[in-house]
Amino acid sequence: MRKQIVAGNWKMNKTAEEALILASEVVNMVKDEVNTDVQVIIAPPAIYLSTLQKYTETAPNIGIAAQNCSNKASGAYTGEISASMLKSIGVTHVILGHSERREYFKETNEQLAEKVNIVLENGLTPIFCCGETLELRQGGDFLAFVASQLTDSLFHLSPEDFAKVVIAYEPIWAIGTGLTASSEQAQEMHAYLRGHLATKYGQEAADNTSILYGGSCNEKNAQELFACADVDGGLIGGASLKSREFTNIAKSF
Ligand code: 13P
Repeated sequence: MRKQIVAGNWKMNKTAEEALILASEVVNMVKDEVNTDVQVIIAPPAIYLSTLQKYTETAPNIGIAAQNCSNKASGAYTGEISASMLKSIGVTHVILGHSERREYFKETNEQLAEKVNIVLENGLTPIFCCGETLELRQGGDFLAFVASQLTDSLFHLSPEDFAKVVIAYEPIWAIGTGLTASSEQAQEMHAYLRGHLATKYGQEAADNTSILYGGSCNEKNAQELFACADVDGGLIGGASLKSREFTNIAKSF
């Protein structure tokens, strides 16, 4: 069966000292309070990954993710960080295709397909993000649009590689806005995406794929969202910056 996962995307927040405090609080609370069947992941800014990895490796159900990585293996790409570098410091997951990267850094489905490949080649787990704008949601084409993001960046994968991918549905209109998708809206999309995955990889593989919800998820709405049949956890932004709230979200299954 598929895993229940709660991942905290810290985005570009926290100084070194604040990051150490947040990570140690999260790790301690998760060890004490969260069911070990739930996988908890923190995704701090890249500069802190090496230090914070040492905290997360103290518990088997806690992982650490980068927020991005290069689509190239190595070489003259100033400022970039490769998947093999992430692997070499003990990173376990990489968030790919977050809407902020797609919007501000112009990442395309094609580049994301390359990133997915290189992350998998290095034995890391991609957390592949997808989601529609408000315009698309209101225009009515949103289900097909989000499905095409999966087609374009994932459907070249072999069944063995696809089985390692985690998907995060993040409606752009719900990110950082306080506007959460309703549980009906989340369930509709998640069920649709699972059906779409089944057309390519079969029902069993689709049933085994964790699909997380992201977008103004917090300790108040997590329980209702996670209770949806096809919502397998969350990718948490703002609420992951508070150890108590993030832990409460991880306890919301
Ligand atoms: P918020 O939880 O702050 O809306 O952010 C969601 C997100 O983008 C997680 O990747």
